[in-house]
Amino acid sequence: MAILFKTFHWCLDLFFPKYCLGCGLEDSYLCSDCSKLLLPLKSVSCFICGRRSPVGYACKECCRARRSHLSGILVASDWNNLLLRQIIYEYKYRFIKELVDPLAELMITFLRTNKLADWPTDQLILIPVPLHGRRLTWRGFNQSDLLTQKISARLDIPLIKNILIRFRHALPQREIKNHNARAANIKNAFALSKNYSPLPSSQVPLKFDFKGNPKSNFSELNGITKNSNPLKNKIIILVDDICTTGSTLEDCARALSPLRDWSSPEDK
Ligand SMILES: [Zn+2]
Ligand SMILES: [Zn+2]
Repeated sequence: MAILFKTFHWCLDLFFPKYCLGCGLEDSYLCSDCSKLLLPLKSVSCFICGRRSPVGYACKECCRARRSHLSGILVASDWNNLLLRQIIYEYKYRFIKELVDPLAELMITFLRTNKLADWPTDQLILIPVPLHGRRLTWRGFNQSDLLTQKISARLDIPLIKNILIRFRHALPQREIKNHNARAANIKNAFALSKNYSPLPSSQVPLKFDFKGNPKSNFSELNGITKNSNPLKNKIIILVDDICTTGSTLEDCARALSPLRDWSSPEDK
């Protein structure tokens, strides 16, 4: 089987050789020199009002006024970087899954640079932004899900998928130019999976395997039901590949809000 797999890849490489998206060098989609051009972003402003605030967290005033369900929007890198844009395009629309590696690496570097990776991993939880079923069928994979799996495995942070569902097939956000129209397009597009609502019947967190699926051996977990709240006292990191206005993340956070408290990494 391994030989078949290798032969298949060899044939693919023969007919579709890989070229670095940055400089055209043969053999990989991103050579080591060009990968150094992907740099983590340093943000120092509140994502809501633009006042000074570290990394992209909501400032104290915006937190107090509860202007968002999010505690921050932490943007790993700069969309103006044309190489990064090209990588994301090839990853999402030409389905080159192996480009998940440099993108995840960039997010991991960002999390480490900003000390989020220093938090005890049992206080953190990663949740990928889900795709609508129709889009998942079209692409064959959820790009945010793959990114989250890589980050989870490398930083040993638990991840949960299937806690959120995307039940409305909205237009892709990039096809809508107007900010308000983008927000309306995505509004109420996400909901809690019925396995996780209503509120928890137990305070003990569920255990998940590294792909985010509940561990099958529930008896081991002392009779905990599926309605346990896995987000209790956790810092939730929602992961998406692109953030434009933040409407998608905002709607995910709204859907998760019955299960979360209002603490942010800044408060802890
Ligand atoms: Zn290169
Ligand atoms: Zn603010």
